[in-house]
Amino acid sequence: MDFRDAPEEAAFRERLRAWLAENAGRFPTSSAAGDDYWARQGDWHRALHTAGFFGLSWPRAYGGHALPPVYDVILDEELALAGARPRPSLGYLVQGLGRHGSEELRQRFLPGLVDGTERWCQGFSEPGAGSDLASLTTSATRDGDSYVLNGHKIWTSYSDVADWCLLLARTDPDAPRHKGISAFVVSMGQPGVEQRPLRMMNGVTSEFGQVVLDGARVPADRMVGAPGEGWALAMTVVGHEREPAELGFSARYGKLVRDLTARTEGTSLPAELAWAAVQTEMLRLHLRRRLSERLDGVRHGPEGSLDKLLMTWVEQDVGHAALAVGTTRDAELFSDYLYSRSQSVMGGTSQIQKNIIASRILGLGA
Ligand SMILES: Cc1cc2nc3c(=O)[nH]c(=O)nc-3n(C[C@H](O)[C@H](O)[C@H](O)COP(=O)(O)OP(=O)(O)OC[C@H]3O[C@@H](n4cnc5c(N)ncnc54)[C@H](O)[C@@H]3O)c2cc1C
Repeated sequence: MDFRDAPEEAAFRERLRAWLAENAGRFPTSSAAGDDYWARQGDWHRALHTAGFFGLSWPRAYGGHALPPVYDVILDEELALAGARPRPSLGYLVQGLGRHGSEELRQRFLPGLVDGTERWCQGFSEPGAGSDLASLTTSATRDGDSYVLNGHKIWTSYSDVADWCLLLARTDPDAPRHKGISAFVVSMGQPGVEQRPLRMMNGVTSEFGQVVLDGARVPADRMVGAPGEGWALAMTVVGHEREPAELGFSARYGKLVRDLTARTEGTSLPAELAWAAVQTEMLRLHLRRRLSERLDGVRHGPEGSLDKLLMTWVEQDVGHAALAVGTTRDAELFSDYLYSRSQSVMGGTSQIQKNIIASRILGLGA
């Protein structure tokens, strides 16, 4: 496949580059900016969308641009080149609602999700249900035209600013555990929903929190899909969460490796940095192959776990390189290192990805 830009792709790249030169500097670019970084996430999302650079491959009906996925790659490359922050990664929510929601729910919620006027969080994990998500105990009990929610969600990214939560709850306690779960769109700004911030090890308090549900209500027509379809929705969501092409981080790793290399000029290159450079290039090529498969219409299932595992290795190798170059005294690089540790946990741990690869791709243990 020829990866050079077609004329219309080159024109898009030009426009984007010009816009970034003017605008990227208005937003904190590193999570070392702590809470300020996350506080500006919504503004960054809306600025990108207003300028025509967000939701590039999503349907026009929902505020997207219906462009081929290669435009997302151009966007990610240019964001990284400009040293701008990555685009907000919402593809997994768009896919979850888009594939499982009714047309009514899609029309009501997708435009606000895509243009950033409504903020969202994902309420799957619980204190006793992370890797083993099917053991979740938050209950949704039918009461007239609504369901009443009781339970406890944790590690809920953006819960402090979210208007809506895509939430999993058990609607049928008697069904086999994967089959008794349903998904809902829950309003975060209602009585019975309490948000408690969590402090991350890099000091950030506003990226994620716990959500306690105590008699919160959700109208029955805000169920996404049929009763018991929550597990299928969860698999759609995590499958997309695990594809780095969707997350678009690889170009950012490349940029960080180049910045680190520039800092070491005149001294010997730490082994960690050399290894990170090799790994980053390997991930870039792997993603190009994935992209070319996507352009050929191949849809991925468990292969997302391979992508997630590779992405985790590379991000953590880059994190080690940042630490080798900056030591703990450089706040920004140290924050990059600390954040990289979370990659092997968020969106499903590395051990779980290996289990999926072993059982569903390699057919082991069947
Ligand atoms: C930065 C960040 C953001 C997050 N955002 C969200 C969010 O927005 N919404 C949300 O719902 N959740 C979110 N999570 C939660 C995340 O999905 C869970 O932390 C993750 O699934 C692991 O669950 P756990 O923390 O309960 O760990 P556990 O499941 O308790 O795992 C503990 C350890 O045991 C290992 N383990 C468990 N089961 C197995 C097994 N069968 N085989 C081998 N090893 C096993 C794990 O790999 C891990 O090392 C986020 C997490 C992080 C770090």
